[in-house]
Amino acid sequence: MGTAIEYSCIKCNKSYQLKTGHGMFGIFEIDDLILYTSNKKEKALLTRLQTRYNGKLKDVPGYNIYECSKCNTLHSRLEYQISYNRNDTYIKNQVCSKCNSILIKLPEDKSIDFTQYNCKKCNDKTIDELFSFTMWD
Ligand SMILES: [Zn+2]
Ligand SMILES: [Zn+2]
Repeated sequence: MGTAIEYSCIKCNKSYQLKTGHGMFGIFEIDDLILYTSNKKEKALLTRLQTRYNGKLKDVPGYNIYECSKCNTLHSRLEYQISYNRNDTYIKNQVCSKCNSILIKLPEDKSIDFTQYNCKKCNDKTIDELFSFTMWD
């Protein structure tokens, strides 16, 4: 079970959802992850790691919250690590869907001040200070 934080913009009313945690989507092996991944390039890379380099998932993947320091927005991304070639580790670079910059992962225990971030639509600091939590699975 994972938690989702929902927040919205007071200017354009768009609401956003940030997923955290592991949920019940059942990714325990690299095969599950390959099935779950919709990005074709990523899928091909994972398949190559698995078949050619004996790639295996290090932990159960989970969603984490990331920030983009360039456009000042929040994102949630599935984080995973693949160990391959005995001692190598592949960690995916998480990229901002808005400006393509590399995202920075926020510490899991950090409380987020949503009002400090920009709305992805308005590009303005117009996020409502009220937010809510829901569960997802
Ligand atoms: Zn907005
Ligand atoms: Zn960005």
